[in-house]
Amino acid sequence: MAQKKKNKMKVSKSKSPYIIVRGSDIHNKGVFSKKNIPGGTRIIEYIGEKITKKESERRADLPLQKNKQNPEYGAVYIFELNKRYDIDGYVTYNTARYINHSCSPNCETQNIRGHIWIIAIKDIPRGGELTYNYGYDMENYEDHPCRCQSDNCMGYILAEEHWKKLKNRKLSLKS
Ligand SMILES: [Zn+2]
Repeated sequence: MAQKKKNKMKVSKSKSPYIIVRGSDIHNKGVFSKKNIPGGTRIIEYIGEKITKKESERRADLPLQKNKQNPEYGAVYIFELNKRYDIDGYVTYNTARYINHSCSPNCETQNIRGHIWIIAIKDIPRGGELTYNYGYDMENYEDHPCRCQSDNCMGYILAEEHWKKLKNRKLSLKS
């Protein structure tokens, strides 16, 4: 049976005059600055598929099953948009998904009127790698080791609010 031709929407990759994607020492690919970026700059929008909270929950449970075939997939690409919808950034046209986590980041994400932006929180020199804190919670933190190489690296990808908990846990393991 002839397959019905899908009306394919062509979505071009998100671009920003500030950045370039290339290999990273932290993980696989990373996003680097093409020029000096002053702190406060909106660098690139984090785009993706708009999904309901319900769909979002379903996808968040997926990595447990899919992890082996596709270790990159996971709830990690899902951002809260508003009370009803989330954004799943696991799409090829979302260039911002290549930005790596760091325990000493130079960017953060901000929801500005329903759009997720990657914002510089300090001046980033030309050639610097863009990073933000992925903000993971403590659940299964051991599955997410961090290789950000910053002086204060926690060893795991974790929201800063949980750092104290992790430090205490490490201390109690030692004693
Ligand atoms: Zn780190």
